[in-house]
Amino acid sequence: MKDFEYVSPKSLKEAVALMAEKGPKARCLAGGTDILVQLRGGRFQIDRLLDVKNVAELNELSYSPKDGLTLGAAVPCYRIYEDKTVQKMYPGLADSASLIGGTQIQGRASVGGNLCNSSPSGDAIPTLIAHGVTCVIAGPKGQRTVPVEEFCTGPGRNVLQPGELLVSMKFPSPARNSGANYLRFIPRNEMDIAVAGVGAWVQLDASKRKVASARIGLAAVGPTPIFAREAGKFLEGKEASQSNVEEVAEMAKKAAKPIDDMRGTTKQRVHLVGVLTKRALTKAIERAKEG
Ligand SMILES: Cc1cc2nc3c(=O)[nH]c(=O)nc-3n(C[C@H](O)[C@H](O)[C@H](O)COP(=O)(O)OP(=O)(O)OC[C@H]3O[C@@H](n4cnc5c(N)ncnc54)[C@H](O)[C@@H]3O)c2cc1C
Repeated sequence: MKDFEYVSPKSLKEAVALMAEKGPKARCLAGGTDILVQLRGGRFQIDRLLDVKNVAELNELSYSPKDGLTLGAAVPCYRIYEDKTVQKMYPGLADSASLIGGTQIQGRASVGGNLCNSSPSGDAIPTLIAHGVTCVIAGPKGQRTVPVEEFCTGPGRNVLQPGELLVSMKFPSPARNSGANYLRFIPRNEMDIAVAGVGAWVQLDASKRKVASARIGLAAVGPTPIFAREAGKFLEGKEASQSNVEEVAEMAKKAAKPIDDMRGTTKQRVHLVGVLTKRALTKAIERAKEG
């Protein structure tokens, strides 16, 4: 591994200046559970590593009924799933945060790092898509926002330009009668990469029988995480029935574009998307009815 400089900025302004100075040769370190492995493996070389754990904006975890949830990019998973508001209002996010790695990994790893690593199998990303999250990005030209479904552009690639960093993810305030769930399939019980994953979010109407709105995100079945937009749209205005859920699962299968690899075949992954969509959506509807 080539030597690089380690810096620990104390403000967002300082972090942006330090990133901008080195352009593509600077990288952020949040939990380090991806980047340290990748640097050691020689996947890329850098001149500067910015530890962003001391930047306040990246460690914010706050909620207001008007603005929803602000999740700072470096907030570790354990803070997310232990948070009572997240448990109650955003259970799909708690699902994702609590299955990334094991207890040690969750002590460091962040949802922001999961997103910026931009692996198609990142377990947090379908949940972010399902929730309609907006990404707040800071760079030398100021701040901009990007819908999360547009963030990842290829395996390990995303919209961040040299010098830019992810500040936070904004979750809309939970709609009345809404619920979410994330499920993945792995060959072991834990500590494995998803063969397929599905995040589902649903809002029911006042009668709690019909669906007002739904969003589905898929993991590990394409070069990027996938927003199965049409599958969610199909449910709008329809009964939250088993037969409609099954129809959505078929549509999600069509949105999946997996490859064969050592973890699973195309056929298995498409089948899994169907099974997981049914289960995640059914759980999201159940939670929406309780809420
Ligand atoms: C044993 C083990 C088990 C794991 N299990 C899982 C699992 O079950 N599911 C799963 O999805 N992943 C898993 N991972 C991968 C990893 O833990 C997750 O992707 C984690 O969420 C990464 O977060 P981090 O904070 O550690 O990211 P880091 O490693 O700090 O960063 C990841 C990437 O994002 C960039 N980055 C980080 N923060 C920012 C920012 N604010 N702005 C711009 N760029 C940024 C970094 O430069 C780097 O390129 C596992 C890893 C290990 C080692």
